[in-house]
Amino acid sequence: MRVLPELVLTPEGLETGRAVLITDGRIAGVQAAGAAQPGDERLPGKALLPGGVNTHNHTFQSLLRGLGDDLDFMGWRDRVLYPFSQRLDREGIKIGAAFAFAELLLHGATTCVDFFYLQDEGNENAEAVIEAAREVGIRLVLARTFYDWDGAPKRYREAPADAARRTRELISAHRHDPTCVVQPAPHSAHGASSAMIRAGWEVAEAEDTRFHIHVAEGQYEGERTLKEHGATPIRYLDRLGVLGPRMIGVHCVWLDDEEIALMGARGAALSYCPSSNMFLGDGITRVPELLRAGVRIGLGTDGGCTNNRHSVFEEMRMTSLLQRVRLLDGTALSAERAFAMGTRGGAEILGLETGAIARGQLADLVAVDLEDPSLHPRNDLLKSVVYAMSARAVTDAWVHGRRVVADRRLATLDQARLMARVREVTKGWAV
Ligand SMILES: [Zn+2]
Repeated sequence: MRVLPELVLTPEGLETGRAVLITDGRIAGVQAAGAAQPGDERLPGKALLPGGVNTHNHTFQSLLRGLGDDLDFMGWRDRVLYPFSQRLDREGIKIGAAFAFAELLLHGATTCVDFFYLQDEGNENAEAVIEAAREVGIRLVLARTFYDWDGAPKRYREAPADAARRTRELISAHRHDPTCVVQPAPHSAHGASSAMIRAGWEVAEAEDTRFHIHVAEGQYEGERTLKEHGATPIRYLDRLGVLGPRMIGVHCVWLDDEEIALMGARGAALSYCPSSNMFLGDGITRVPELLRAGVRIGLGTDGGCTNNRHSVFEEMRMTSLLQRVRLLDGTALSAERAFAMGTRGGAEILGLETGAIARGQLADLVAVDLEDPSLHPRNDLLKSVVYAMSARAVTDAWVHGRRVVADRRLATLDQARLMARVREVTKGWAV
């Protein structure tokens, strides 16, 4: 198949008169359009961009949107997250996942990490999420959580050996899955014991995967980790021996200078979720300092009830704007840098060959309508995509070469029916 947009954004820049050749889920080449061929997908008036890569989400949380929007973190956790996540059976989990994936695709994100922690001591719930991703058509990284803090609901919790064994089984089951990979995810320094964090890291080592962990999201966490383990979060993880190139630390808002340098020195990566950090009043991660230290960065939306939007393009904008406010400097972080974090940077930290329109990359693409007012006037398209583009401008998406959004609607399943199911599952929910 060939896709022929008016403009295509490749690593070389914006190009016209090009065709993107797709074979077996990958980009086989970007070539001169030449004469028309049978099966050509023409996209006049549209630009083709790499799909957004969402490096952090909790999909079932989309069903909790609007329930605790103006609470503080503890209030939200105890009055919304814990009690309402208890109401979800496997079908509810699957609907929540499909709902989140659908919204992300419609907003131009073609890859999503689900940091998934409703295990019920098994893999069946995680499999329901994986099934939802396949049906909706998004590329999924199932970050299977390791959780053993006894203050959390029982459904989240497992013994370290059980979590490790089940995660290895899930990794094996999906080793040859073209659109899903499984990676371990010890929850955090407060949600997972030292043994649990080590167990997650050991699975990543044994299976040669990345692993995800929440790090220093709220200010209280540093103090708590220091009190309980005698070190601040990054130092603690380093002491456990898990701080290294496999690690994707989520948030990393409250790090001191030495911790930033240590993350860089050990080659750890960051999943940065600016809107969620703002929504929960967490603070501002020191992104330029982390970049200077050599930390690799991808962007995430976090869950649908702590953002509350589901767009990686939105996170690109917030990434840049927040640093301008923090540093009182309009040049603090460029659109190009933010765009890279939301696409190929995110893919790189996840170990996926996506996020750029280039030969050999996975065919995860998004088309935007160049006629949309938010992309006018036509000066610098990339800057407008980051700072100005409305979600309305996203018209089409492909994942692994499969058309999953067409003319602003899901092409894979009945969108109206899915929204009806979301309303059914959440009927009568109130705080
Ligand atoms: Zn999270």
